[in-house]
Amino acid sequence: MQQTFYPNLLSPIRIGPLELPNRVLMGSMHTGLEEEKDGMERLATFYAERAQGGVGLIVTGGISPNLEGALGPNGARMQRKRHARKHRVITEAVHAEGGKILMQILHGGRYSYHPFNVAPSAIKAPINRFKPRKLNSLGIKRTIRAYVRSARLAKEAGYDGIEIMGSEGYLINQFIAKETNKRTDEYGGSFENRMRFPIEIIKGIRSEVGNDFAIIYRLSMLDLMSEGSNWEEVVTLAKAVEKAGADAINTGIGWHEARIPTIATLVPRGGFTFVTRKLMGKVDIPLITTNRLNTPEACEEALESGCADMVSMARPFLADPEIVKKAAMGVPQAINTCIGCNQACLDHIFKRKVASCLVNPRASHESKWPIDAQANEAKQVAVVGAGPAGLSAATELARLGHEVTLFERGPEIGGQFNLAKRIPGKQEFYETLRYFRYQLDQLQVNVKLETEANTENLRVFDHVILASGVSPRPWQIDGMDKTSVVNYIDVINQKGTIGKRVIIIGAGGIGFDVADFLLHEGNESFYAKWGIDKTLESRGGLREEQDSEPKREIHLFQRSPGKVGASLGKTTGWIHRLNLKKAKVQMHSGVTYHKIADGQLIYTENGQKQALPYDQIVVCAGQVPYHPLSEKLANLNIPHTLIGGAREARKLDAQRAILEGIEAAYALAPWSRD
Ligand code: NAP
Ligand code: SF4
Repeated sequence: MQQTFYPNLLSPIRIGPLELPNRVLMGSMHTGLEEEKDGMERLATFYAERAQGGVGLIVTGGISPNLEGALGPNGARMQRKRHARKHRVITEAVHAEGGKILMQILHGGRYSYHPFNVAPSAIKAPINRFKPRKLNSLGIKRTIRAYVRSARLAKEAGYDGIEIMGSEGYLINQFIAKETNKRTDEYGGSFENRMRFPIEIIKGIRSEVGNDFAIIYRLSMLDLMSEGSNWEEVVTLAKAVEKAGADAINTGIGWHEARIPTIATLVPRGGFTFVTRKLMGKVDIPLITTNRLNTPEACEEALESGCADMVSMARPFLADPEIVKKAAMGVPQAINTCIGCNQACLDHIFKRKVASCLVNPRASHESKWPIDAQANEAKQVAVVGAGPAGLSAATELARLGHEVTLFERGPEIGGQFNLAKRIPGKQEFYETLRYFRYQLDQLQVNVKLETEANTENLRVFDHVILASGVSPRPWQIDGMDKTSVVNYIDVINQKGTIGKRVIIIGAGGIGFDVADFLLHEGNESFYAKWGIDKTLESRGGLREEQDSEPKREIHLFQRSPGKVGASLGKTTGWIHRLNLKKAKVQMHSGVTYHKIADGQLIYTENGQKQALPYDQIVVCAGQVPYHPLSEKLANLNIPHTLIGGAREARKLDAQRAILEGIEAAYALAPWSRD
């Protein structure tokens, strides 16, 4: 008898006219391809690969119904017949793989980043420099018609339905919340008036597209804004949405401007499914839950415990297009798990670059590095170093058909990942290591642990990839005493005792991580710390944050002037800064270090000479490349390529390391597709 894995997740479900084979929705995600010249073709390949990977239903990234609602000046729109014609390539590619796809209609309102943006009231968003124009009543009617037209065009383009984005603080949410809707006409004031806008949109769309076209409404169930909806209003809206003609309700958590993490790694897995659960039974249409669901186990658990009828994952499909297929085959250990870092997806979007994935650089670049490529001639390749760059190179080379030996001096694979996984909220790196371990095994890479590579054992290979990584930049100061000045590697590996007063030299990603490591046990309540009301009784789902006395007094130092932590990720840097602020970490910038004397660091800050006593100084002053073999290989004419930190330590992170691994693998020899 064939075993059924994940019985809830992999059971069929009906969403309006659509019979779906499983309960997995690939949630809406802007990739940036929407605005690229050849974007529609690349999106077609991108979505088709996910459809082929077995996902039940796909929702595209947000497409605006008109110019005012576009997210940027060139933001994607579904406004004219020519737009619909361009989208055909996407729907045809997905249907050819047996998939189903909905187009998300998203009007940015006051979040639209251009001077033509509009909103229910002329109140500027704190995350946008453009103040919106207030829509007059004719403008509102015109916008509703734009939504309806957009849905009709989506149907003409071959989509199986649409999702209406009613959450995350975009236009519809701005109508619903008191905070952003100060109108006194029939679209403002009472809750009934404030929800009129989305209800008229749903009714208008349903009467235009008929019943053979699915409509999902993404409802903000937890605004995390002080003047957001209360639970009674959420339920009232959900019932009205159902009555107006929606086929399912998806969950929205938190406005983009809310200063509470909702999708970052430190949010517990499935950390917001309790919100959807509270709405279960209040409506008769299926409910979809979302946020930080990144494994089949977490999804199955959400469904089994009655939190929802279906689950939505977005970023996990960047990390692994085949997540559903692998779950169905009972090999979850083969899944490349999304670690919630945002570094190559959302951070790219905010920098106006195409979204990809830290753990899967192939995402959005499927044609550049086809998964079915094979080297025309197999080579014997040695990879030195089993950190992120080496692991990526070794597995990609083996996938291309080369014979690969991986040398690692240490007792385990992982390199810097082994440090990262110990930082509170970064435990997802264990999954990345599990994935690579599985791949090395499946691809029959010859892994040599505790083996120093040298010119003797490397001589036999056709090519050597040097991924030997980095070593911490040494830091010297007069009066330095070796016992109380330690480097970050020893601290994270818990070698030695750390006292109550700590000075951290260097406020880059690692300085922040070390501060977090020294302050947090990892067992504090995420909800209490960030002020989330799990009872959902208070407006916006907010309650007073719970402050606890920090474990240590920590001082974070940098020589550069300006904001400490400015180099951290675009969409997660604020979380790290706020996290340390809550723990009363003292930030020092623009400092000059002088010496150490009598257990004190002597330095100048703001023109003032100061002395700060400490128990330990932890040095997090960046890294330098570590490649002791490079020159020797060059002298012996052994062909080699340097990648990752061994090539360049400046601005090194796991994203660049993994990317350079795949680049080096595909560049090694000519290849063609199977
Ligand atoms: P980094 O980001 O380059 O930071 C190095 C820090 O050391 C800077 O604050 C720098 O500030 C200071 N520094 C540099 N040279 C120094 C010297 N000679 N003496 C004293 N201080 C010195 O490097 P990192 O923190 O080691 O991180 C490495 C990489 O990993 C980075 O690319 C980082 O983005 C990434 N990473 C990111 C995260 C995250 O986003 N959460 C976490 C971990 C790592 P001054 O020069 O101003 O003193
Ligand atoms: Fe997930 Fe990070 Fe990849 Fe984004 S970049 S999809 S958050 S692993």
